Amino acid sequence: MSDHRLVIVGSGPAGYTAAIYAARAGLDPVVIAGAVTAGGSLVNTTEVENFPGFPDGVLGPDLMDRMRDQAERFGAQVVYDDVVALDLTGPSKQAVTADSGIYTAHAVVLATGSEYRKLGLDGERRLAGHGVSYCATCDGALFRGKALIVVGGGDSAVGEALFLSRFGSSVTVVHRRGELRASAILTERAATEPKIGFAWHSAVTDILGDQSVTGVELTDTRTGATRSIAAAGVFVAIGHEPRSELVVGQVATDAEGYILTDHPSTRTDLPGVFAAGDVVDHVYRQAITAAASGCRAALDAQDYLGSLRSEAAIAASSA
Ligand code: NAP
Repeated sequence: MSDHRLVIVGSGPAGYTAAIYAARAGLDPVVIAGAVTAGGSLVNTTEVENFPGFPDGVLGPDLMDRMRDQAERFGAQVVYDDVVALDLTGPSKQAVTADSGIYTAHAVVLATGSEYRKLGLDGERRLAGHGVSYCATCDGALFRGKALIVVGGGDSAVGEALFLSRFGSSVTVVHRRGELRASAILTERAATEPKIGFAWHSAVTDILGDQSVTGVELTDTRTGATRSIAAAGVFVAIGHEPRSELVVGQVATDAEGYILTDHPSTRTDLPGVFAAGDVVDHVYRQAITAAASGCRAALDAQDYLGSLRSEAAIAASSA
């Protein structure tokens, strides 16, 4: 068991930015970064073109390495382990990890981010890793010369389709409506990429194949008509869900599991527990907005820890 002032759970832009600010404030934060997920979802992206300060773009993994290095430079301790249980209710918070024991702290910043939303199909579960993927950057090169499907209509889906067009013989974006949600710049790029086509008003209702994916069944969302198209890879990019499973029931969340904070602060309904990044935000969900909320969480934690010190000093002087 090791005792600290501040433990930060999660290592995306929110977690590392909280660590930079907290470390510079002398709080000696520990970042429990995840065993295989350190750096958060940006580690699975390629070029990030819209993070300010990088006019030529920056690779997602490089950006996260820089944030981590910046936090470590000021003394943050980064632990590559998974938190398996959290007890946040008392004045001493506990984070139980898989391998490196229990970390206790007076304050905790929850920056656990989000995970890929699933279609919820049997074929999706059965063929995950055998043609069904949630990460084009990770798996795209396995599908050279193959017909590919991307499901979704947001920036992630269109970005994945553009990336996959380097490898696949064709990429069909399957979207449940007749209009993309993605930004204009990505939409324009996809529209002019000859390998990318669209299946509009279509829901994937089955993923076909025994040992590996051979195609998908599509259902027209207006008429209910079904058809099958052949594909060797299905990339699901339909958004994310908050990774709040360890704290649901301890801190207040909304119906979808996003942690509720006392906006514009990052305070949760538990004293000493703060939340930042995608586990709070289902609207903006950008690296820069997550980083900004990580900054606010560190300042809020600093303020809280300062008030604990003041209370202790008052108690000691009146004893
Ligand atoms: P998103 O914007 O929430 O889009 C999710 C897409 O999946 C929507 O088109 C949605 O359809 C569709 N969808 C949701 N549930 C579905 C289901 N059960 N079945 C079929 N389709 C479903 O998520 P995102 O694309 O992951 O983007 C998340 C955030 O990250 C956004 O703010 C985005 O701008 C940002 N982002 C930015 C970049 C960048 O390059 N700047 C790259 C990636 C992500 P509807 O449209 O019908 O709702």
